[in-house]
Amino acid sequence: MATSVLCFRNDFRLLDNPALRAAVDAGPDGVVPMFVLDEHYWGPGGRTRLAYLMRALAHLDERIGLTIVKGKPWEVIPRVARSVGATSVHVAADYTPYEAERDQRIERALAEDDVELVRTGSAYAVAPGRITKADGSPYRVFTPFYRAWLEHGWRDPAPGARDVPWIRADVETTALPEVDPPEGLELPPVGEEAARRRWREWLDHVDEYDDVRDLPGEDLTSRMSVHLKWGHVHPRTLLADLAERSSKGAEAYGRELAFREFYADVVHHRPDTIEGYYDKRFERMEYDHPGGDLQLWKDGRTGFPIVDAGMRQLAATGWMHNRVRMIVASFLVKDLHLEWTVGAKHFMDLLVDGDPCSNQHGWQWVAGCGTDAAPYFRIFNPVTQGKKFDPDGRYVRRWVPELRGVEGKAVHEPWTLSRPPEEYPAPMLDHAAERKESLRRYEALRS
Ligand SMILES: Cc1cc2nc3c(=O)[nH]c(=O)nc-3n(C[C@H](O)[C@H](O)[C@H](O)COP(=O)(O)OP(=O)(O)OC[C@H]3O[C@@H](n4cnc5c(N)ncnc54)[C@H](O)[C@@H]3O)c2cc1C
Repeated sequence: MATSVLCFRNDFRLLDNPALRAAVDAGPDGVVPMFVLDEHYWGPGGRTRLAYLMRALAHLDERIGLTIVKGKPWEVIPRVARSVGATSVHVAADYTPYEAERDQRIERALAEDDVELVRTGSAYAVAPGRITKADGSPYRVFTPFYRAWLEHGWRDPAPGARDVPWIRADVETTALPEVDPPEGLELPPVGEEAARRRWREWLDHVDEYDDVRDLPGEDLTSRMSVHLKWGHVHPRTLLADLAERSSKGAEAYGRELAFREFYADVVHHRPDTIEGYYDKRFERMEYDHPGGDLQLWKDGRTGFPIVDAGMRQLAATGWMHNRVRMIVASFLVKDLHLEWTVGAKHFMDLLVDGDPCSNQHGWQWVAGCGTDAAPYFRIFNPVTQGKKFDPDGRYVRRWVPELRGVEGKAVHEPWTLSRPPEEYPAPMLDHAAERKESLRRYEALRS
């Protein structure tokens, strides 16, 4: 009897899943779909993602009957393989530091039983590490990477696997723990069907994407980040649909997907940048210690409406609009003078799409210490940003109820009103003064 094991990690889908096809080819008599509850992910942070993960797993379990085991992956996976006499275990390749090392350990442990770990595909259209300059070195700047990525191209979506002979392994399994999201946070829908439905509906708007993607009040971005994070859909599926359209919007969307691929590629070459500075010079910059100011930022009570709206959207939904992510990140680094790592950690704690590559490098880009970074001295003014990208104030009014009675652009600087709303805090700092202070620290670093 030829059996195999398919180990899901962050690729919870049955369509366009090459690892699943490989598992079926190797195990025509039975494929064990399994998931390891790995304590590595059970830290104090990231409860939103854990809560979402548990729901996504419960959903997949209902569809195909997962064998869920608890423990160290390199100990429990060989046990599952042995129990069904499998000769291969199938996964999608993972490239982040812990995950890559974990897979090497699994590979070594399986080899002792003569079982092969087969990596097929990845969470990217083009696997990290594959796109290099002519001399073989990695790209450090997005635009040339993007051009090379387009030129390289990617495979078509993998055909679906039909009539998969799912079986369960006879091993000690564990029930999925109940994990609630942080209080007041509503999780988005889980599952492959939900992702595809959302994508199909949103695709009707793709042609407008380039015109509206920077306007948080319109709320017309795709919200696919969460589904890409958990692999409910593969980017190749999205790229295939985009290729059928020749609009500016479709092109702009493909470029955003390439950002996700670029940051994964950067982390592949520089795994240290998950925790540390890409541009190490910035380690020596003068930073403040996190204190009460940080809490005001987290609570959305800074007194700067666009910043507070963003932080409250994050707390309520585990998601924030990209433009606002940039504004709140700039505020933390350049107005509060805190290290980017402090803000990145809070994001990873709350974001349901929290992805170490996109998050850590999104933060470093804003902080001026990442790849292709916005120069440090370009400091976002939260009022001007608010007026430009939320011109009618719709986004702020949606998330900051204290300001709902303020009309028009004034909502971005309520302190200028003759009678500012009493319940809303006054600005916690003077942006012009903090901007100067940031530039002073930057000059000190340069000299
Ligand atoms: C400080 C900061 C932190 C971020 N943290 C994350 C994170 O943890 N996880 C995450 O997926 N994205 C992160 N981003 C990128 C971006 O904000 C989100 O991908 C986007 O807001 C998700 O919403 P959407 O799916 O509606 O995006 P859309 O505008 O519809 O974009 C489509 C897809 O393109 C990709 N994408 C778009 N912009 C970026 C970008 N700048 N970097 C990388 N990929 C991008 C995402 O996969 C996204 O789903 C961060 C950006 C910043 C500035």
